[in-house]
This record gives sequence, structure tokens and C-alpha cells, in this order.
Amino acid sequence: MAVPKKKTSKSRTSSRKAANMKTPSITLTVCKKCGEKVMSHTICKVCGYYGGKKIIEIGD
Ligand SMILES: [Zn+2]
Repeated sequence: MAVPKKKTSKSRTSSRKAANMKTPSITLTVCKKCGEKVMSHTICKVCGYYGGKKIIEIGD
């Protein structure tokens, strides 16, 4: 519910923000191919796989 800005105390505002800061902004998942930690919905930088398919060639 929307509350007028003046009615929310500094203490209440900062405590709410502190609680929200705890949650990580990025979600890490484990690559199914190599088991490396990767950001969700992105190609694995180690093996180049995404969703069980090879998307890019990683040459080294
Ligand atoms: Zn991988």
C-alpha cells in the first residue's frame, strides 16, 4: 500500500532498504556441461554451452 513520503520515518525507510540490500542482484547457476558457475540465462564462458547446445566455440 502506498504511504505518503512524510509519514514514513527515516528509521523505517533505512531498515527496509537494508533488508533489500541483502538479496543478491545476480543469480548464479551451475553449467550442466562443465559444472562451472554461470549467470542464469547466459552462455557458459568456459565451454560455450547453453541449454544443452553448443552455442559458441571456445578455442584455447
Ligand atoms: Zn560450461
